[in-house]
Amino acid sequence: MKIIMLGAPGAGKGTQAKKIAEKYQIPHISTGDIFRANIKNGTDLGKKAKTYMDQGLLVPDELVVDLVVDRVQQDDCTNGYVLDGFPRTIPQAEALDAALAKLNEKMDYAINVDVPDENIINRMGGRRACVGCGATYHIVYNAPKAEGTCDTCGEKLILRDDDKPETVKKRLDVYHEQTQPLIDYYSKAGILKDVDGTVDMEDVFQAIVGILGE
Ligand code: ADP
Ligand code: ADP
Ligand code: ZN
Repeated sequence: MKIIMLGAPGAGKGTQAKKIAEKYQIPHISTGDIFRANIKNGTDLGKKAKTYMDQGLLVPDELVVDLVVDRVQQDDCTNGYVLDGFPRTIPQAEALDAALAKLNEKMDYAINVDVPDENIINRMGGRRACVGCGATYHIVYNAPKAEGTCDTCGEKLILRDDDKPETVKKRLDVYHEQTQPLIDYYSKAGILKDVDGTVDMEDVFQAIVGILGE
């Protein structure tokens, strides 16, 4: 099962992708997590990506496409995978389709987690990310057991720099301009599935399971 998660920043793609990965036993591939790991490790890719991420802009397509195309050909991806945060532009989607076509493969589902902009600012302001393992929390909707500390690894939780309100507004503009057209792209490809992302996390997941099957 090969799945793409679509949706605005903060819509809940990562939250749902992790649940999907666990239930269906397929890898969760988050390009944002890959970039953040590279930034943390001080790699060249991380240095390049950071200048864009800090401004709320997308990292150029050429820095992300090969990375994902290589990743999905690794051994753990033979039964499928869930892509979170990729593709984010039409050229990325076309490059993915072309690479899969060469392997005689194609994506099965593009799940669009639909959340209006009004809710997004609120979600992002409350999001906290673990500096150790990348787990995501929300101070109200998904609070850690001890404030400021990751349940899983015990490391510190932070507000991501790009989750500050000024940058969130920019990211939403970028989303509408560059990523939202993918809804139409995957609708035409016949694999688009919409879910209401404004309801409780568990209810969003139940809707997704309804689409993917038990
Ligand atoms: P969110 O989950 O809030 O949407 P991500 O963690 O997916 O955020 O992405 C954080 C940042 O990483 C983006 O704002 C962008 O700068 C960069 N990024 C992640 N994935 C991509 C991609 N596929 N193409 C370009 N930039 C990306
Ligand atoms: P994305 O990967 O799309 O950027 P996340 O999965 O990181 O989004 O979710 C953004 C924030 O909103 C996180 O703090 C997360 O805990 C919270 N969140 C996710 N889904 C829901 C939901 N259905 N209701 C309320 N808060 C949610
Ligand atoms: Zn952690």
